[in-house]
Amino acid sequence: MSFYTLQKTMEKIELNMNNIYIKSATPNRVRLKSDIFSLKSNLNVIQEMLGFYEVRANIKCNSIVVVYDKNTTIDEIISKISKKFQKKIEQSLAASHAVCGSDGACISCDKKLNSSPATFKRKLVEFGLLSAYSVYIFVAKNVFGVVIASTPFSLIALVSVVAAIPLLRESLDDIKNKKFTLQTFMSSTLILAIFIGEATAAFEIIYILRGGMLLEEYIATRSKNEIKNLIELDIKKVYVLVDGVELETDIDEISLGDVIVSRSGEKIPVDGIIVDGEAEIDESLINGRSESANKKNDDEVFAGTLCEAGRIYIRVDAIGEETYIARVMRDVEKSLKLKSPSEVQADILAQKLLKLGSVMTLGTLVLSGSFINAFSVMIIMSCPCSTILAASTAISAGIANGAKQGILIKGGESLEKVSQSEVFCFDKTGTLTTGKPLVKEVITSKKITAKELMEYLAIAEYRNTHPIASAIVKHAKSMDIYIEQNADTLVLSGLGVKCKYGKKTILAGNKKLFLEQDISLGSFDKKANEFLEDGKTVVFVAVDAKVFGFVTLEHEVRAGTQKMIEDLRKKGVKHIALITGDDERVAASFSKEFDFDRVYANQSPHDKAEAIVNLKKEYKNVVMVGDGVNDTLAMSKADVAISFAAGGSEAAIAISNIAITHSHPEDVVNLYDLSKKTLKVVNQNYWMGTSTNIIGALFGAVGLLSPAAAGAIHIGHTTSIMANSSKLAIYKNS
Ligand code: ADP
Ligand code: MG
Repeated sequence: MSFYTLQKTMEKIELNMNNIYIKSATPNRVRLKSDIFSLKSNLNVIQEMLGFYEVRANIKCNSIVVVYDKNTTIDEIISKISKKFQKKIEQSLAASHAVCGSDGACISCDKKLNSSPATFKRKLVEFGLLSAYSVYIFVAKNVFGVVIASTPFSLIALVSVVAAIPLLRESLDDIKNKKFTLQTFMSSTLILAIFIGEATAAFEIIYILRGGMLLEEYIATRSKNEIKNLIELDIKKVYVLVDGVELETDIDEISLGDVIVSRSGEKIPVDGIIVDGEAEIDESLINGRSESANKKNDDEVFAGTLCEAGRIYIRVDAIGEETYIARVMRDVEKSLKLKSPSEVQADILAQKLLKLGSVMTLGTLVLSGSFINAFSVMIIMSCPCSTILAASTAISAGIANGAKQGILIKGGESLEKVSQSEVFCFDKTGTLTTGKPLVKEVITSKKITAKELMEYLAIAEYRNTHPIASAIVKHAKSMDIYIEQNADTLVLSGLGVKCKYGKKTILAGNKKLFLEQDISLGSFDKKANEFLEDGKTVVFVAVDAKVFGFVTLEHEVRAGTQKMIEDLRKKGVKHIALITGDDERVAASFSKEFDFDRVYANQSPHDKAEAIVNLKKEYKNVVMVGDGVNDTLAMSKADVAISFAAGGSEAAIAISNIAITHSHPEDVVNLYDLSKKTLKVVNQNYWMGTSTNIIGALFGAVGLLSPAAAGAIHIGHTTSIMANSSKLAIYKNS
């Protein structure tokens, strides 16, 4: 069964009582729905069975998404699942109301993204109890003068051990695997403290540790929620058109190809194509434009955008996790799990501190002969976790801050690299220009009318997504031209299009294309000059190798471009370049107003990539900002790829490290500042963590720090690091 027949029929496979429905399918990814998926235990079996394919589950929606490769087919996946569950179908469905067991990656699930909210709450309650207990100890000791027993069999020792159970479990695993880790070091410190009658110090260690873990989780969860809130679709019911009747349906029951209705004031729940109606659509979520777009037949709409006024019928192309915005979000979520260079560095540093800690503890014991001194050193050094938190908390907070501004950062590494980049390269069309050029002049030979030329051109450009193509099609429609849609088009990246239309061949594109195809432009070459020098893009049109004329297009430069270039330069970026596939005269006219160090014109996608590779040889870290049309190769070669105007190009999302959803040039500067600020906070945190560790250990070694005071230092610097990182999450660009 081919993928397409499958997609069209949305086949239903009978499986005794439990059907497996294909809810949506795109190449290599299928979303299945079945009661089978309502049980966590079943999902575990499925995950195990499907081996290395990624399986994402959403128990609440009884659905799974399987990401597979060319070694298998949807049929095979379904038949494997059905075989496995044939005998187990009468499972209780009660579990379908269980807490969502997804790994947090399921956007359509209405639970917050926290992987297990219940565990977080439990940890919070446990920490609350520990806090109450420490207040009790403090009051009893300092207000009522009660002597708190710190012996191995005291209450405080018992509380410490109970609170340390998760830590002790982890250490036991590490010991079994013959690994000496932070956990083992801390557990041994803890147990030793209890044994030598310093249970109060042991309690302090575990208290700080639990508090730190909780705070870190809170910051990470908040980052995820920020992202989630950005795309909170909150749509449960939609109206689907069935035999001309609008029926209210659960969003989950929608399939690809269905036609749904969106009216004024409603958020559009799917990605799709308008098949009827007209509406004003607020697309600020995906492209940041404040003015709404008028959309009608054949226009594309995206999930999460708002139908402000009007009514449209949308043919569903992507649902839930497959929608454009969900895919961007998924990348961001994944990135939160990746380690940035400074996080990796922090891990290495923490390992070193751990070793240093062991040496210092032993050294103190040998040199001073004091067990208490050695123990203070041990407590201080047993918490290099502050070093680890130094980087990870700052990075998560930085990513959250970006998300709040509509800057989706897929990973700490890219965030860090932005402000360490010496070169910023910008694509022109669609990136520094709005991606909505306007057709201005239609110049034709005497043999053909403007309307005829536009008709040929529009036929050739009809299926193309390039901003120039969209502008041409829109203009043709405004001229009431009927566009034949069954032409066969070949897109020639960076050049134009070649199209077979009946027996005719239409060629449309720039001068380079006609040179390559060996077709003379004749007098049109000269005629086009004045427009090119004026900064307009020229698209020549030939039918059967005979040039009939050209159209010119004017681009609107994004507001704030000038300021962005000035600001980046002020902040220390060494080289700023424009890389465009457009004619050198257009590029020259465009760049007149802007202070580029270098302008690359007439660039094919390959040339653009080569320019990046060469710049990388000369400078440290190169950023490429593009729109994903003809520049994805260049983006993939850059150290940091930033995509602009992300509403359109899928390739841009896939390849970019950072997506600027609002497409405001100033966001590039905001991102640069955020990157710098994040690195600064990481640095401050490092210093705070490491210096207090070392100084504290030295004081401890010479007997100037009691074990309890050593514990207090931990509380101090761990919470300072957390607080310092939180600053980033709420930091605003001035
Ligand atoms: P930029 O690098 O400025 O973003 P592109 O690489 O996307 O521009 O396109 C480069 C040039 O190729 C355009 O200026 C245009 O002359 C030509 N071109 C690209 N796509 C098309 C198209 N669909 N129709 C006509 N010309 C096109
Ligand atoms: Mg472009």
